[in-house]
Amino acid sequence: MNNALSDTYDDRVIIPDAQMNLFGLEPKDIIARQPAMPGVFFDAPDIELDYDIAVVCMSGGKDSLAALKYLLDRGFPASRIELWHHLVDGQEAAESFMDWPFIDDYCVKLAESLNMPLYFSWLKHGFKGEMLKHNSRSHSHMVGTPDGIVELTRDAAKEATRRKFPQQAASLQTRWCSSALKIDVGRRAVTCQERFIDKKVLFVTGERREESSNRAKYNQLEPHSTDTVRKSAKPLKPRHVDAWRPVLHLSEEEVWQMLCDWRINPPVPYRLGGGRSSCQTCIFNGDRIWATIAHYWPERAQAISQYEEEFGTAISRNGKTVIERAPWTLMMSWRFARQVAMSTSCQSLFQRTNRGYCLLARIAVCRLGQVDPPILPFGAGFLLCARKGRLQRGTPFGAGVISNQACSPSRLDV
Ligand code: SF4
Repeated sequence: MNNALSDTYDDRVIIPDAQMNLFGLEPKDIIARQPAMPGVFFDAPDIELDYDIAVVCMSGGKDSLAALKYLLDRGFPASRIELWHHLVDGQEAAESFMDWPFIDDYCVKLAESLNMPLYFSWLKHGFKGEMLKHNSRSHSHMVGTPDGIVELTRDAAKEATRRKFPQQAASLQTRWCSSALKIDVGRRAVTCQERFIDKKVLFVTGERREESSNRAKYNQLEPHSTDTVRKSAKPLKPRHVDAWRPVLHLSEEEVWQMLCDWRINPPVPYRLGGGRSSCQTCIFNGDRIWATIAHYWPERAQAISQYEEEFGTAISRNGKTVIERAPWTLMMSWRFARQVAMSTSCQSLFQRTNRGYCLLARIAVCRLGQVDPPILPFGAGFLLCARKGRLQRGTPFGAGVISNQACSPSRLDV
């Protein structure tokens, strides 16, 4: 137990017990010992895993991978885990608008590697469809189930207009992409499936408190919004669903270490120098990232910028379009350019624009119970330097992921 957790344990268990002994009280005399909100725990790094099913929301980024590993490390049977991936751009358009083109297929290959079922779900027409909503209802939710894709219409929704990008805010109403494209879709995916009725379900996500002041306040364990058994004494569809954020308390370094221990290669966005693997054109991208995108993927930055002009509202609160924020593209993207130049992997560079995830061996997940990692192909020692500046010196970041004896892992000094 780390210091922070042990302090919390002292505050909540040891000290109250000592106080009760001091005053000669029994636990039953202390009403305040009952939690104010049953099932809600601010800190719950270790819980009893007596669940029938664990749904792991798998974005393909390091934190959701770590959340999955955390669950497996605590002995939850892999056979009762399923991975859910929300398609930010939907499946209707041929081209990606926000997300990396290969990330969906990365999740497919990952699930195959782990021998776990993977279900896609999405808002029909994705991010762009929702953004262009004009005096109309939101599109249907599309939910992958063991019996195929189910389309759930939104007949009860009110007609409304968006015609602007989500804004950089903690509020999910303003930053509508997270709620409309992920949270609502995930919620609907639970409630529309009879197979979760009379089951105890663990809904696992990979947020970390370190990421933002808003996430710092998250509870680690609480009833999920789809839970019915704690909302009603006699629910029509009894469903016990807990939302668990197993890596909420972990640092970024600890997460990378978990991936190292698991010997799993970081997804391509990290290998290309990004700090996150969520949407390629995420609304939270800084100017330097936009400069990089404008330089290497000009069509992606142009598409975003044109909509900002059309809407008269930019992503940034300073009113500048993403192209205006990236005027010195070549100069500003020098770090990325240097990484690319120093990289030894043509495959990773090719992958960045390719929809099918082709770096099969690079997923390199040690199959469960398998001690030795797969041998990776030439070039697998390619950079693993995302966020290096925030890692402790000497942390073998990526070293565990790199198990190819034939090439020497490189660490880039950026
Ligand atoms: S990664 Fe960024 S753009 Fe994509 S859904 Fe999340 S906040 Fe929105």
